[in-house]
Amino acid sequence: MTIAERVAAVRDRIAAAAARAGRDPGEVTLVAVSKTVPVAAMREAYAAGIRDFGENRAQEARDKFPAFGEDVRWHFVGRLQTNKVKYIARHCHLLHSLDRLALAQEVDRRAGRCGRVLPCLVEVNVAGEPTKAGLPPEKVVPFLQQVAGMKGLQVVGLMTVAPPTDDPERVRPVFRQLRQLAEEAARQCRGLPGIELRHLSMGMTDDFEVAVEEGATIVRIGRAIFGERG
Ligand SMILES: *Cc1c(COP(=O)(O)O)cnc(C)c1O
Repeated sequence: MTIAERVAAVRDRIAAAAARAGRDPGEVTLVAVSKTVPVAAMREAYAAGIRDFGENRAQEARDKFPAFGEDVRWHFVGRLQTNKVKYIARHCHLLHSLDRLALAQEVDRRAGRCGRVLPCLVEVNVAGEPTKAGLPPEKVVPFLQQVAGMKGLQVVGLMTVAPPTDDPERVRPVFRQLRQLAEEAARQCRGLPGIELRHLSMGMTDDFEVAVEEGATIVRIGRAIFGERG
């Protein structure tokens, strides 16, 4: 299959999953995760209508920014070291992996220097996997209280990476918990400045349909679009 055919197939699957849940597929943003993918393949995805790309290495992202115009939205989906925030602060449309105060402070500082407010998602380790990035669910509200009011960032939702599985039904509870956590946190944080939990970034190649059924507003898909990474 060509990249254009793969993009079309993924869009069809998103639409079908949304329909099963009684949702409008237009509520779901497809982010094509282009980490390790050469710009030429990204251009094929662009020609197929993709305008959202996801990267997980700051320098790789920085090197790719100039290859596309202002109509492309860059998502940063990986673990981000504080000393690399400077590479993405100007061009990143949405940071999916905010998970600690030191990172929030550096984002605040660097985005402020660029004269912008960087939208962020708080990454949550829903399943409590020991080696995984993200805050434990019970730390999310205290963290939101700490970052509320930082001028250089705003929190617009939550993100999670489900445990790897060959049966996506097994991770449905993870997605459901993220949605419930977002609803509960939104209640507890009502009125806090710069906190508005309207997005759920969840679902990857192996589990995105279940994530859409459970309320994802952003899915992050690499292999189903670009093929296996080398
Ligand atoms: C690589 C990656 C993805 C995409 O994974 P696929 O399985 O290739 O769809 C999504 N989210 C994050 C955080 C990633 O690192």
